Amino acid sequence: MLKTAELFHVAFSPTAPDAKLKQQLPIWHHLGLENEQICNNGIRETCLWQNHDITTVGDLVAFTTRVQPETHRPSMKCNCETCRLDCIAGCTKPHSCESVAVKLLNKLPKKFDPRSFEGGGPTVQNEITNDSDEGGEDNTTFNPCLITCDNLTDSA
Ligand SMILES: [Zn+2]
Ligand SMILES: [Zn+2]
Repeated sequence: MLKTAELFHVAFSPTAPDAKLKQQLPIWHHLGLENEQICNNGIRETCLWQNHDITTVGDLVAFTTRVQPETHRPSMKCNCETCRLDCIAGCTKPHSCESVAVKLLNKLPKKFDPRSFEGGGPTVQNEITNDSDEGGEDNTTFNPCLITCDNLTDSA
């Protein structure tokens, strides 16, 4: 099992800097949004920005995936530890903020959404060739999948 994990880690390692970069991008006025801007001037957006200290895409992902206590209820009246801490920080509606945070992440184009890496989706190959700045033009023509398919056809 460990060896398999290592293999996967090695295989996916070229995507790691990319995923990291996506996390570091500022969520407010995100560069990847052409038609629709995410602004921090809505009530909940302001709360996410000021009270939950969310400035980057990574902050937002961490906020939406944070582990809630068992006593947490998806309600404005929840009095669990996490919601209480949010209230102390100045948030009046922690649950609403979570919903808005998820919606904001969903607005991101897939190639800027760091969550698409968590499931190991089929778009990973495209992500590498499109987003990599270091390889130059050769990168765009390289397609490991095609090479594999050719090999399979030859040997059959
Ligand atoms: Zn709660
Ligand atoms: Zn809030």
